[in-house]
Amino acid sequence: MTENTPSSSKVAELYDELTVTQAGLWNGNLHYGYWTGPDDSSSFEEALDQMTEQVIRRLDPRPGQHVLDLGCGIGAPALRLARDYPIRITGISISPRQVDLASERARDATGLAGEVSFEVADAMNLPYPDGSFDGVMSLESMVHMPDKTRVLKEIARVLRPSGRLSLADIVLRTVPDQRGDSLQEAATTETFSMGKLDEYGELLSEAGLVPLEITDVSEHTRRSYPYFVAGAESCREDYIRVIGLEEFEKRLEEGRQLELVPEIGYVLIAAKRPES
Ligand code: SAH
Repeated sequence: MTENTPSSSKVAELYDELTVTQAGLWNGNLHYGYWTGPDDSSSFEEALDQMTEQVIRRLDPRPGQHVLDLGCGIGAPALRLARDYPIRITGISISPRQVDLASERARDATGLAGEVSFEVADAMNLPYPDGSFDGVMSLESMVHMPDKTRVLKEIARVLRPSGRLSLADIVLRTVPDQRGDSLQEAATTETFSMGKLDEYGELLSEAGLVPLEITDVSEHTRRSYPYFVAGAESCREDYIRVIGLEEFEKRLEEGRQLELVPEIGYVLIAAKRPES
């Protein structure tokens, strides 16, 4: 692996730095929005919620189950899940500050049907025995992990037989007039590593999971970019304090460019661990 691949400690640093700023944005959701189609007039906040619903629908949780939220951010999706389902959810993040904030949000939450707790853990090396969970959801955390086979194997290990995985990820996809290798390089940084949509099925199988659904929803998510850019601009001073003016301008420009790159796409996946 080259220097230019994400490492857990770099990702932890990134989110530790940005957590407080991001907590004020997007209702605490650190993922894309989902719109049903061109006629869907949902606001960004509604679209964020619709994305979480898409992931929950594929997770298909049942009362009494224990679900792992792998890469929980500041807890918005896990709390959303706990709002409606009488289940137990353990959320993990590599960033201690995110876990502190998510735990605070869980303490303050009222009227939840389920129970939620958050802890610091590395998805590459999950601190749970085999078969601990009935389900795993992962909303945009895989994109930070260069060795996707390893993470998927860890997920397969901690799932009980027939347990489900529901995953949302940012991916590179094949489109006419490809831009070529330069895009793959741009899609891999110290904290970011996009997988290829075409390869996901194989990755799941290699890890011992059975793919149930792999759906390209890029066109349902593309409207998110301007909101990300506007959100970051609204916290300009905070961002500059933590990442510096130059880095801030660079990320903003990248955000503006991403919208225009058809190879950058979004996938929703459902998979399960075989019965035995
Ligand atoms: N799922 C959340 C957060 C998405 S941001 C939401 O939708 O709001 C990506 C998350 O993945 C962050 O919480 C980050 O800490 C987590 N993450 C990235 N690499 C990780 C790793 N190796 N182990 C555990 N969590 C990781």
